[in-house]
Amino acid sequence: MSKSSKVVPGSIVEGFVVCPFDNVHRLLPSRLAVHLVRCARNFPSAKMVRCPFNVTHVHSVADMMTHVACCPNRSTMVHYMNPETLPPVEPRPADFCVQSAEDWDAEPPAKTYNPRTHCENNFLILNPQGNAPAVRREIRERERRRFLQNNQF
Ligand SMILES: [Zn+2]
Ligand SMILES: [Zn+2]
Repeated sequence: MSKSSKVVPGSIVEGFVVCPFDNVHRLLPSRLAVHLVRCARNFPSAKMVRCPFNVTHVHSVADMMTHVACCPNRSTMVHYMNPETLPPVEPRPADFCVQSAEDWDAEPPAKTYNPRTHCENNFLILNPQGNAPAVRREIRERERRRFLQNNQF
């Protein structure tokens, strides 16, 4: 009996996961899922089954019976199946509802504000930015005439 055969498949040894198909294979936990797909092809006769709670848990049929009873991922599935009957993993936020007669979807009583119309009706200077100098001069001139016509200045 070699030293490596004593290692429990699926256990973590010095940061590496022991491959359930061949306990000589040691893998980074992040590489296990990919490795299991490839390694399973090399062991077609191995009567291994995958855990219903986590596909990286691969055991013989006999070991799986005991594994599913104490799988660390079991609680996630049980909570998923019974979301209402079991206490939540995290406390649920309390229902927050403020009674109000206001309807925020309704149109506001005020009219829409159009800055251009407001300026034109109230003799405010339209700032002619973003135009060519010639156009700016023309706008300024037009504004001046508009103000003079109305004897505001
Ligand atoms: Zn392997
Ligand atoms: Zn499992």
